[in-house]
This record gives sequence, structure tokens and C-alpha cells, in this order.
Amino acid sequence: SILDHAARTYPDAEVISHDTSGERRSNYAQTAARARRLASSLTRLGIGYGGMVGSLAWNTHRLLELFYAAPGIGAVLHTANPRLSVEQIAYCINQAGYRHLFVDPESLELAEQVAPLLSTVTEFVILADRDAMPATRLAGTICYEDLIDAGDAGFAWPVFDERTASTLCFTSGTTGNPKGVLYSHRGTLLSALATSGGNAWAVSQYDSILAIAPFFHCNGWAMPFFAPMVGAKLVLPGRAMDNPHLHRLIIEEAVTASAAVPTILLGLVEHCRASGQTLGRLDRVICGGSPPPPALVAALRSEFGVRLIHAWGMTETTHGGSFSPTPADATVEQVVAAARHQGWEVYGNALRVVDEDGKELPPDGTSPGHLQARGHWVAARYFRDAAPAPTNADGWMETGDVAIFSPDRSFRITDRAKDVIKSGGEWISSIEIEHALIGLPGLRDAAVIGVAHQRWMERPLLLVVPSDDGALTEDDVRRRLAASIPKWWLPDEILFVDALPRTPTGKLRKDVLRREYRDRFQPPAAGG
Ligand code: AMP
Repeated sequence: SILDHAARTYPDAEVISHDTSGERRSNYAQTAARARRLASSLTRLGIGYGGMVGSLAWNTHRLLELFYAAPGIGAVLHTANPRLSVEQIAYCINQAGYRHLFVDPESLELAEQVAPLLSTVTEFVILADRDAMPATRLAGTICYEDLIDAGDAGFAWPVFDERTASTLCFTSGTTGNPKGVLYSHRGTLLSALATSGGNAWAVSQYDSILAIAPFFHCNGWAMPFFAPMVGAKLVLPGRAMDNPHLHRLIIEEAVTASAAVPTILLGLVEHCRASGQTLGRLDRVICGGSPPPPALVAALRSEFGVRLIHAWGMTETTHGGSFSPTPADATVEQVVAAARHQGWEVYGNALRVVDEDGKELPPDGTSPGHLQARGHWVAARYFRDAAPAPTNADGWMETGDVAIFSPDRSFRITDRAKDVIKSGGEWISSIEIEHALIGLPGLRDAAVIGVAHQRWMERPLLLVVPSDDGALTEDDVRRRLAASIPKWWLPDEILFVDALPRTPTGKLRKDVLRREYRDRFQPPAAGG
């Protein structure tokens, strides 16, 4: 219904897409027609109600079409995250267990590495033009454009229950394997309506949205849904996330709104400063995943006229569950003050903090508690029950975040109860790093914590307690880690200490460590 509405009401609103073969300019009328063709071809491939397909792809017009074609026939689209490790990607796809994986040329090499580990995928649909089909070692490839060409433009969308599953995203927030969160048509549509509104994205047909945040993260932060819903121009950058590329799109496509993690925005600001350029018509950016540094918020407003709207959310809340909006004429001080907290809950995603006994805490500006979410698009359980349900009997879901509510009902995340580090928008499991060190000769104890970092928001710091013989060296530790964890997980610093703080029952006090080392990678922030 979203795409039909867009094709009827805003047929000429543009969809701009970039990938390895260059730029493609189309609109919602064409997107809707191609989605119908694709849907009819999927049906002929035997995919239908209750079925599933997957994608390993970045934001392009083809992925957008897939977001409608598969769910539109009652099948689920699993958007696999190409930033996970090969093993994790294979785990997610195998758990979902489908036959068709849609791969863009940029992710082809990765798909070739993942393929031998896959137990159900037999067909790889390459998201490319026929004459641009890349050479590949993958067996069973299909050209995406052949599916479009062979499809029926008059295909009639089937009608089914709105609680039918539509998309699937995995979160790798904690230890162990990634956990799947299955979204429904109902939750997706309601959450897109709620977050398109004035207190969140405030989007309309006069906006041009640059979708920097990838569609495989949190249902694309709802952009694939509310952009056509309101008839906004949609600019899809593909995989390339370099500053000149993003900047060019912002200027050339007269982008007014975007969404990104702080690290990307820091890069853009640096790029503009170094090259003496503006951010054109950019009016606001939704920034989430990690709290943005106040200096970034101030620079965007004072130097480029852009309002940063701080948002909080998680895979389990579908996407943004809170926003910190400011008026269009907000001063630098107003925007900075608003972005110091994670904002206010949006309708449909209630938020509260509770103490250790589950009792709700007052919004007094001083009582930190466990943040919980409840609402129409909050996950009640994980896909195939692969992990314990995060939700209690009353429907409140544990977010794993620690927060304080102020008397004005805005809230601020103060800590994380889950033992993970978020670096440049992606998760690093501190426990997996610690596990990689188990049994290392000369090591008595080890702990990894996330420490604030100017560029990546957080980076890992490793604290090592050596045995008394003093034989362990930093090189030993680094060699062991390099052999067992991804390179970008390697701790920025390894510190040798005499002991680690523990509770009387032997539990590691990471909160104590996080406080002690909070300024290790950057000077203390002015004003806290
Ligand atoms: P994910 O499911 O990968 O999107 O991760 C969700 C988690 O990221 C949240 O539970 C928080 O721990 C963290 N997070 C997301 N947005 C923010 C934010 N604005 N400030 C602080 N932490 C955030």
C-alpha cells in the first residue's frame, strides 16, 4: 500500500541510486512497477506466503525494490549485515534457512567466502544489469534484471493478515551468536508513521533524504518505508561511504535530511572544513547508535546550519524509539542541549527505567535504572527462540541500557548493562576478546572495557593481570588476539595492572573500570 500510494500520488518523486556501475535515476512509479515485476518472478521461483529470501547488499534502488517485492507476497526479507564476520553472516543465513540470497556486486567477494558455510542457499541473485554481471566463483547465479524483465507488470499484490512477518534483522549486541528480530507488516507500517512525524524525522514531500544508515541495520531506520509514504526524494549511496561521495550527493541532490552514526558525521564535517565547502540545503540529521559528541552537534549547527537530532533505538525496537527534536530556528545552544540526552519516547514505544527489583523509578534527574521499552513494534522474543525472550510478562523489554529520566521526561543513557563496545556504529564483544585470551601462558586475569573515543565513539581497552613470573609481554597478548578476533576489534591499548576490581562473589566490576579509565583515549569533555 505504501508503494502504490507513492506511485499514485508522487509518481515523479525521485529515487537516486549509486553502485559500482554508476548512478541510476528513477522514481516511485518505476520503483512500484519494478517491485511488481520482481514479486511475480519471486512467485514463479516458488517463493510465496511464509517463505523467505535474503540480501547481502548496500542501499541501492534494487534493495529498495526487494524491500517491497518479498514482503509484498507474504515472504520475509532477511537483510544480512555485510559488516559481520563471515562466520556470523553464515550463522544468520543458516538459522533463517532460505534458498535465494540477493547479493550486490560490492558484496560478491564476501558472498564467495560465506557460500561454503551455507547449508540452504542454492541460488545467488546478483543485483546487477545483465551486461554488468560480474565474474564469480558462486554456482547457481541469476541476474536480478532477468527477474525484472521476466516479471509481470500487472501483478496483483495478494492480501493477507497485517501481522504477517515482513523483514528480519539480526543484532550482534551481546555475547554468542547474533539474535534475529522478526518484524511484521503492522509494526513496520505503524513505526514508519510514528517516526516520520514532527517530533522525530518531520519528513514530507519537500524533503530529499540521503539514506546513509544501511537498510540492513534496524529496518533501515524506517527510511525505505516513510520516504515513499510521504513522497520524499530518496538518495541511496550504495556501499561507498567516503566523505567526497556522500558530500557530492548532499550537494547535487539538494539533500535536506539524513541519518548516520556520529563517526560518519564527524568525517563529513572534517571534509567540509578541509575543503571549505558547505553542506548545501541539509537541514537536519538523525544521529543514533552512539551519543554524538557535543562539539560535533555545535559544529553542525554553527558552521553548517544543520540541526542534529539525537535518536536512541535498537534492533529490538525496530529502529529509533526516542528523538530529541528542536525547532527549525533553534540556536546552537538549544541543539547542543537537546542532543545531550536521547530525547523523548515516540508514540508506540513507551520507555521507563526500573530498579533491580523491577520497580519503576521516578523521573527525578538523578536515579539511574534499567531502561525498558514496550510497544507495538518492540520485539517480544528472538527469531526461532535462539536466545531467551528479552520481554517480561507485562510486555516490558530489557534494553540492556542504563538511563536517567529527567522531570521533563527526556532521558539520558548513562551506562550499558550489556558487556559490549560500540565502535563506529558496530559492536565489539568484550567477552569474546577476553575468551580469546583464556589459557594464554603467563596471564592471570584480563578484562576488556569500552572507553570513549573521539572518532569511533568507543574503542576497546584491555587490562591484563600477568602471573608473578613476569614472563608475559604485550607482544604475546597481541599475537594471540590477532590470531582469533577481527582486526578492528584489537584493543587500542593494553595495560598491565596488578589486579582487577571484583565483587565479594568474584564478579568483575566493569562499572568501576569504566569510571577509572573513562578519559584514557581523550581529554575529559567540558561540561561532562
Ligand atoms: P543495535 O541493535 O545494534 O542498533 O544497538 C542498539 C544499542 O545501541 C542500544 O541498546 C544502545 O546500547 C546503543 N545505542 C543506540 N543508540 C544510542 C544512543 N543514541 N546513545 C547511546 N547508545 C545508543
